[in-house]
Amino acid sequence: MNHQILHTLEQKNVRPTPMRMLVLEQFLHARAARSLGELETAMPRADRITIYRTLRTFEKKGILHAIADGSGATLYALCPDACGPAHHRDFHPHFHCVRCGATTCLDMPAPQLARLPEGYQLLDMEVQLRGICPDCR
Ligand SMILES: [Zn+2]
Ligand SMILES: [Zn+2]
Ligand SMILES: [Zn+2]
Repeated sequence: MNHQILHTLEQKNVRPTPMRMLVLEQFLHARAARSLGELETAMPRADRITIYRTLRTFEKKGILHAIADGSGATLYALCPDACGPAHHRDFHPHFHCVRCGATTCLDMPAPQLARLPEGYQLLDMEVQLRGICPDCR
C-alpha cells in the first residue's frame, strides 16, 4: 500500500478505490505526461472507459491536469498541491522533446503573460516549449 497515493487522494478529497490508486500510481513513477493509450498499455487488465472516467475525476479534483500535446492527443500530468476542485493553478510551461516525444511539466513560472491588461480574467494558460530533453541530449 503506497502511502503517497493515499495521501494525495485524501488531500484532494477523493475516495480511494483500487482503480483510482492504480491509475495514480502510474503518474507517481513517471516523469513525463501520459496519454490514455499509454495508460491502457501499462494496465492491460483495466478497461478503457474506466481509466478515462478516473482521469476525468482526477482532473475535476485537481489531481491531474490535461495537456494538449499539439498533435491532437491529450496528455495528463500530476498537479501541484495548489490545485484543487474547480481551480487549477497549472500555469507552468510544458516541454515537448522532439526526439523521444516525452512531454514534461517544468516547475517554473510561465512568462509574464499571466499579467494581462486590465479587465481580462485569466482562466487557463498553455505554454508549450519544444526542444531536446536531458535524456536525449
Ligand atoms: Zn492542476
Ligand atoms: Zn527526449
Ligand atoms: Zn503540467
